[in-house]
Amino acid sequence: MDDSTTPTNFIRAIIDADRAAGKHQGRVATRFPPEPNGYLHIGHAKSICLNFGIAEDYAGTCNLRFDDTNPHKENQQYVEAIEEDVRWLGYDWDDRLFFASDYFHQLHGFAVELIESGKAYVCELTLEETRDYRGTLTEPGRDSPYRGRSVNENLDLFARMRAGEFPDGSKTLRAKIDMASPNINMRDPVIYRIKHGAIHHQTGEEWCIYPMYDFTHPISDALEGITHSLCTLEFEDHRPLYDWTLDNISTPCHPQQIEFSRLNLKYTVMSKRKLTQLVDEGHVDGWDDPRMPTIAGLRRRGYTPESIREFCRRIGITKADNTVEMGVLETCAREDLDRSAPRAMAVLRPLKVIIENYPANVTEELTAARHPKDPSMGSRTLILEREVLIDREDFREEAPRKFKRLVAGGNVRLRNAYVIRCERVIKDADGEVIELRCSYYPDTLEADPESAKVRGVIHWVPAGHAVAAELRLYDRLFREPYPDADKDFKGRLNPDSLRVLTGCYVEPSLAQAEPGSRYQFEREGYYCVDTVESQPDRLVFNRTVTLRDSRAKMQTRQPAQLDGSTAVG
Ligand code: ATP
Ligand code: MG
Repeated sequence: MDDSTTPTNFIRAIIDADRAAGKHQGRVATRFPPEPNGYLHIGHAKSICLNFGIAEDYAGTCNLRFDDTNPHKENQQYVEAIEEDVRWLGYDWDDRLFFASDYFHQLHGFAVELIESGKAYVCELTLEETRDYRGTLTEPGRDSPYRGRSVNENLDLFARMRAGEFPDGSKTLRAKIDMASPNINMRDPVIYRIKHGAIHHQTGEEWCIYPMYDFTHPISDALEGITHSLCTLEFEDHRPLYDWTLDNISTPCHPQQIEFSRLNLKYTVMSKRKLTQLVDEGHVDGWDDPRMPTIAGLRRRGYTPESIREFCRRIGITKADNTVEMGVLETCAREDLDRSAPRAMAVLRPLKVIIENYPANVTEELTAARHPKDPSMGSRTLILEREVLIDREDFREEAPRKFKRLVAGGNVRLRNAYVIRCERVIKDADGEVIELRCSYYPDTLEADPESAKVRGVIHWVPAGHAVAAELRLYDRLFREPYPDADKDFKGRLNPDSLRVLTGCYVEPSLAQAEPGSRYQFEREGYYCVDTVESQPDRLVFNRTVTLRDSRAKMQTRQPAQLDGSTAVG
């Protein structure tokens, strides 16, 4: 194991110790067990990287297992989306794709086994009564009046539950453990419930009784020979039930459940229930909305799998609850995209520049590197012509010296091209600048920028050959760092989380840009061609991240910081 790439953690320490002791003959088998009731989010990525990462590092295996015991909320679309997301993150389960529903017959058999050994009974308390009998954290529960049923009566009733004789909610199968246990999970938990009318995405209408998660999970783990069953901290109090289940039935092995803390991110929510509401109520544009913390949303936004894996590596695995800054995720994206994204020029707020001493009806092809530090990416062709577009923010009539862009009467270099000088400013009747008349210095293509006394470097596109584009700039989905803090999380949505810039232009070399391809728009940020709405004649780009973290505390927003000489490359 390479410690420089995989920081160790308490789970790896447990595995190391188990292997040293020869437990499971040194074998390591993990699983990632999503419930197909929504899309995966960045929190799941933490669990995926942990489970698949451990399997990789210990030459073990990691199964993908759908935990599909609740047919009312689950469906095939989610199954497929989850498989796509895990694969996209770079992990492979080979032929080890499982469904908890694969085990419904075996689970049923184990339930019968529990009944036969007097450790489970059919209970007829209603949901409310069951709750009432369960007691509280400070008071013990009371035994159900059905607890003393004979084995035969229980076997008969359970068989009839399965045969569909009883309506939903009228009966449950419960484990007979201890109604006085200080752990409420051990107070005769329900292990089977009746659910009529559901069409399960794997088993169809075969079953009208469904096993509960706490019964299904340990048995599924054991049947698959899982050695270390890694889950989040909310299951810590369920561990005694996990162990009880495996101790009281004849499964082949007894995996060890180990809990770690969930990932929470500031300014977003991370529960599928809440994300489902955002989708269903139209607060976002689907599960893959680029503002969503889902894997599909991050992918559409332009995040790379590498950056998400790096993020998971950096946050590490502990038992301490914490909420990570969005900036950590963004930094991982920036670092990866700085390395991997080809450069291009895009003008967000176009201002026309006419180069008066440049001939009309002539174009000139210029060559620019795709990446300043990676020659292997090759070069692209820029087209220069008499009319070009620059960004309005790169021009001021008058500005202090530190404004390293174009001013009236001043020089600036067009990135990868010539130095121009602003001769005249054309305004409309309202005094708004609508056009600049410039001249260029023909001998400055190769020359040292210093020699032509340029203030800075700005990006541009050729007015006649640029490609029209819409740019979508995203901000945080929520206005507050802990939108979960009270019930009304939807009241905390950020109304400005999406800003659409139309009328933008990108350089001609992007005319054929593939959906999903990523670029650094020089001096502007990292962008990705939208995979859903982009058209060849109307490109749509999503801004993945800005070039630098404008929210970082030490940074002041000086215009000089937008200067080309530091931002480019
Ligand atoms: P949610 O609460 O978002 O609905 P869940 O835990 O119900 O999530 P599952 O599909 O059951 O979602 O999760 C599959 C696996 O991913 C589980 O092992 C779970 O512990 C883990 N997981 C879910 N959310 C997070 C998170 N925020 N951080 C780390 N692991 C997570
Ligand atoms: Mg769950």
